[in-house]
Amino acid sequence: MNRGAIAEIDLSAIAHNLSVVRKTTRNRPVIAVVKADAYGHGAVGVSRKLLQEGVLYLAVAYVSEAKTLRDEGITAPIIVLFDGDEIEFFFDLSLVPVVYRKETAAALSSEALKRKTVKKIHVKIDTGMGRLGLHGDTIIDDITAISEMPGIEIEGLLSHFSEADLADRSYALLQLERFNAIRKTLSGILKKNVFAHFANSAAVLTLRDAYFDAVRPGIMLYGHSTISQKQNLQLPSLEKSDNHMSLIPAMTIKSKILCIRTIPADTPISYGRTFVTKRQSRIGVIPLGYADGYSRSFSNNAEMLVKGRRVPVVGRVCMDLTMLDVTEVDAGKNDEVVILGRQGRHAITAEDLASRAGTISYEILTSLGNRARRTYVETD
Ligand SMILES: *Cc1c(COP(=O)(O)O)cnc(C)c1O
Repeated sequence: MNRGAIAEIDLSAIAHNLSVVRKTTRNRPVIAVVKADAYGHGAVGVSRKLLQEGVLYLAVAYVSEAKTLRDEGITAPIIVLFDGDEIEFFFDLSLVPVVYRKETAAALSSEALKRKTVKKIHVKIDTGMGRLGLHGDTIIDDITAISEMPGIEIEGLLSHFSEADLADRSYALLQLERFNAIRKTLSGILKKNVFAHFANSAAVLTLRDAYFDAVRPGIMLYGHSTISQKQNLQLPSLEKSDNHMSLIPAMTIKSKILCIRTIPADTPISYGRTFVTKRQSRIGVIPLGYADGYSRSFSNNAEMLVKGRRVPVVGRVCMDLTMLDVTEVDAGKNDEVVILGRQGRHAITAEDLASRAGTISYEILTSLGNRARRTYVETD
């Protein structure tokens, strides 16, 4: 038996979610974020589907991720969001660098001169995220200096929101204001409108003024929203307030029961004896643990689906095993277990697991999806 779980990725759901992005933004071009192996969904399979559906660009975090896509024959334009170090690869693999340091621009410039070519770049400014981007009083000077470097051409301008998903959007609006000011100045310097992109999924769903020339969603494409229903009610300006409700999660995580044992009452289960049976119980053992991305914080604190029923995780999650109380279901060895996704009438959502583990859906998807063996399905 292989360790861990199977991740079943529904490519039709991803195509549907892309259509929700388009509907929401009235057909803005889409830069599809496929970093971290497409949030655990597999960047190659997902990118092929998204390109078939007509996205403008793919965006990855690091050059190594872009290299994987190129090795698999994907020739579409790729934006590299965070990597400023492997200069020659931007040329060899024909990648679009996001530049957030003058030094990177200078290195790209000299490489372009050496190769007698011109490299198009996108410049990132920090408007309040506090992570990467040109920042402070020197932004305009820095961009001006970059724009004057030979061999490179500023094609795009971008920034990233730190809290577009909050009910109180004043900070997002402040970020937007800073971005607009710099965009305007830059257009003056370059004497052309620079291709601007800013909106992550949260902004796609709530902030029309952030759409600009293209939108840059990630999590939404995989069927998840960071907008809770409660927040939704507090967002009067949300135009199509139900759009995020129609997203379809693309990932199902499944396994099989490795072993079932009947155990008397008063028997402790797993490390630390944190669960003790109250009755004679049937305990199913699942071949998946925290080494497979199933967090130890799910110990006595989550459910899985077996035979269309919710059953509780009992005792501590181990490195490669987890125990379930299946006393009330007619389950046997090798029966399917759904860890994330639907089975029958029930569903375990990434949001549900995230709140139990004190994290966000992004971490649930990448933790489970990037360790599972993937299969792709089309449901249409
Ligand atoms: C991850 C990321 C996105 C996508 O964010 P979502 O919240 O998943 O939509 C967009 N832009 C940048 C710079 C990112 O790092």
